[in-house]
Amino acid sequence: MYSDKTLTCADCGQEFIFTASEQEFYAARGFSEPRRCPTCRAARKAQRNDSGYSSGSRGGYGGYDSGSRPPREMFAGPNVLEVHEVMTSTDLPVT
Ligand SMILES: [Zn+2]
Repeated sequence: MYSDKTLTCADCGQEFIFTASEQEFYAARGFSEPRRCPTCRAARKAQRNDSGYSSGSRGGYGGYDSGSRPPREMFAGPNVLEVHEVMTSTDLPVT
């Protein structure tokens, strides 16, 4: 028979209860005692998912980056317009 155990989380150092039923579950599967509290385990899981997601959404961020450039182009806008005017004015005689 198992009895509840108090373990210390390797991540946050917080004590957590490793319940008798959990011990049974772990023993049945051949797992060793958990080293992290359920909170940290969940956090790690979430982090894994997050990193997976973020690597997927990095393209989106890149899109945002190039999307945030237009403001700069707005500064360059007048120049572009001038260049365009010059181009057309020089183009006109040519044609
Ligand atoms: Zn923890």
